[in-house]
Amino acid sequence: ETPLIEVKDLRKYFAVKKGFLGTAKSLRAVDGISFAIRQGETFSLVGESGCGKSTTGRLVTRLLEPSEGEVWFKGQNISHSTNNQMRPIRRDMQMVFQDPYASLNPRMKVKDLVAEPLLIHTKLSPKERDQAAYRLLETVGLSSLHAERFAHEFSGGQRQRIGIARALSVRPSLIVADEPVSALDVSIQSQVLNLLQDLQEEFGLTYLFISHDLSVVEHISDRIGVMYLGTLVETADKDTLYDKPLHPYTQALLSSVPVPDPSLKRERIILKGDLPSPVDPPTGCRFHTRCPSCMEICRRNVPAFREVEPGHEVACHLYDEEMLKLER
Ligand code: SF4
Ligand code: MG
Repeated sequence: ETPLIEVKDLRKYFAVKKGFLGTAKSLRAVDGISFAIRQGETFSLVGESGCGKSTTGRLVTRLLEPSEGEVWFKGQNISHSTNNQMRPIRRDMQMVFQDPYASLNPRMKVKDLVAEPLLIHTKLSPKERDQAAYRLLETVGLSSLHAERFAHEFSGGQRQRIGIARALSVRPSLIVADEPVSALDVSIQSQVLNLLQDLQEEFGLTYLFISHDLSVVEHISDRIGVMYLGTLVETADKDTLYDKPLHPYTQALLSSVPVPDPSLKRERIILKGDLPSPVDPPTGCRFHTRCPSCMEICRRNVPAFREVEPGHEVACHLYDEEMLKLER
């Protein structure tokens, strides 16, 4: 079966001027990542801010053009498709952002905000768009009585529901949700996450879910990819990642996730140092400057991103074949 999304050795570099002579350098925001998302699946990208996950979301939806590598959508290579070629595809992949307020025009009524993608992508009449907006508001748990109001009259959670209704309006296959609940209170977060899951079932949606917080993605994800400095360091199905994380960075991230049963609490791993700059990433393994298990080889050799068991990939010398042999 063709995956809905397939990303192959994807890279995005931005030119930056650096230093006293202003020499041109490039910021390697995304530096060679590969993954696939099946129809109906929720794949989450997790990592600290600046690791390249939002850039990846914008490459997948082709709001950005890749520097190198490929993005495939429904079996079609869209890496360098023009705006014209992208128009019908844009309708099929919608984004939901962290701060719906920033992306919602304050002078537009809620019904017009929700129906705006229909105005862009369909030939529905104004009356048909209004009716669609009323239905969409109810679908996301808001009353159609709110249709004539403005976004600033709503709470953060309600505004995110409006943002979701808007994304849903054109019946996309894929929704890329970039930190959709990060700005919300914890109690509201779970309501919005539950809504996203219900909508996934009802409409057969596929999600690329982006978050800096492993505790947020636990319930919604089928599979998770952990990113560090523009690269994927580990991908696995949700249960495997939480029960048996292999990469030292994943282990550190997970050690700070709260668990309901305190006897299951992992020992907290505090990472030393700051996130290095993606303009001058460390040699060898990019994580070696902060890794508690760093070995000599890690400073020199880039670890390959390899499948170490079915569906579980990791980029770390601890799982090199020779190392695993030593262990046996
Ligand atoms: Fe740590 Fe080395 Fe593995 Fe990198 S390759 S995560 S430095 S053990
Ligand atoms: Mg799911």
